[in-house]
Amino acid sequence: MSACEAISIYIHIPFCTTKCTYCAFNTYTNQESLIQPFTEAVARELRIVGSSAPGTPAHTVFFGGGTPSLLTPRQLDAILQAVTDSFVLAAGAEISLEANPNDLDRDYLAALRSLGINRLSIGMQSAVPSELALFARRHDNDAVVRAVSAARAAGFDNINLDLIYGVPHQTLDNWATSLNQMLALQPEHVSLYALGLEDGTPMKRWVERGQLPAPDDDLSADMYELATERLTAAGYEQYEISNWSKPGRACRHNLQYWYNLPYIGVGPGAHGFAGGIRYSTILNPQRYIRALQNDAADCPFPLTPAVAEWTALDQRGEIAETLIMSLRLTRQGVERAAFARRFGVDLLDVHGETIERFARFGLLSVDDERVRLTERGRLLSNVIFRELV
Ligand code: SF4
Repeated sequence: MSACEAISIYIHIPFCTTKCTYCAFNTYTNQESLIQPFTEAVARELRIVGSSAPGTPAHTVFFGGGTPSLLTPRQLDAILQAVTDSFVLAAGAEISLEANPNDLDRDYLAALRSLGINRLSIGMQSAVPSELALFARRHDNDAVVRAVSAARAAGFDNINLDLIYGVPHQTLDNWATSLNQMLALQPEHVSLYALGLEDGTPMKRWVERGQLPAPDDDLSADMYELATERLTAAGYEQYEISNWSKPGRACRHNLQYWYNLPYIGVGPGAHGFAGGIRYSTILNPQRYIRALQNDAADCPFPLTPAVAEWTALDQRGEIAETLIMSLRLTRQGVERAAFARRFGVDLLDVHGETIERFARFGLLSVDDERVRLTERGRLLSNVIFRELV
């Protein structure tokens, strides 16, 4: 990896107080006793990666999960200290933390600010009590309102709110209620996710057994359209299939993924891509902690003893991943000049036939500067992505 290529750092916090009924993330409940040894292991993992590529600049840090707001300020500080000791963190770096609204009181928020955390992502999910109950979320809508107000008072001026649509029994009116409540809080950034029925989740079981209706694709499309209209009218710009922001407030960390640029992933079950290597770490927190007690002398960048799987990408693989990720960027798409600089070849020389075919079907738009999904193309993006790999 070039020494001047700024990376992003993702830190996976695999603990939650309760498990939401739709969630298939690598998170664990009733494991609070592991949080302190986990903190020490993450700090060690960061130091191992940093020591194998000294002087690597970093420009974003993202505490994701799981529920990062379960960590105390002292634990977050220990991890951030390992970041700044091991990487050259840019002045003005974006440092985000995902949080459950119930955890965000004034003292905690003030402590986060004093640590340099400057972006909050609050899991709102819905403003409708019956939907929050179906999700088994531990917060209600008042908690979101209180959390956003306390975050503003603590000085946070970059807040993301998440909502979920396409939920069993959700009506268009309910969805409008959640959108209105969310917009009233004036977040700088909004992420909207269609409910996925993930293997092993109660939500999927309930639908399979007929205890809940399956999500209705047509209704979900109407919800997406309604959201697009409301957000545009409220001054948000869509920049990715599921993400909108106020001008200049796109999430820099997530853009790193969508440009397919390098990022380090630490913590159990984290993924990373750096030095041409894509990797993932051990899922189980106890095994992860134990692995990081091992000698790391032979680990080349970006690997550590906690890495469970890794693969070196050749240029063909990196091109395919870059196209799939960047086509998610609704405004920018794949920038042809940047693509040519990075890979030394014109995009149309590699995938011209496929791109021109989808352009003829009205699914891609192509000009001298970029290739983008059209609105119709966004609905059929999986078909396009399959052909590009
Ligand atoms: S809080 Fe988030 S990570 Fe934890 S169970 Fe719920 S959805 Fe999953």
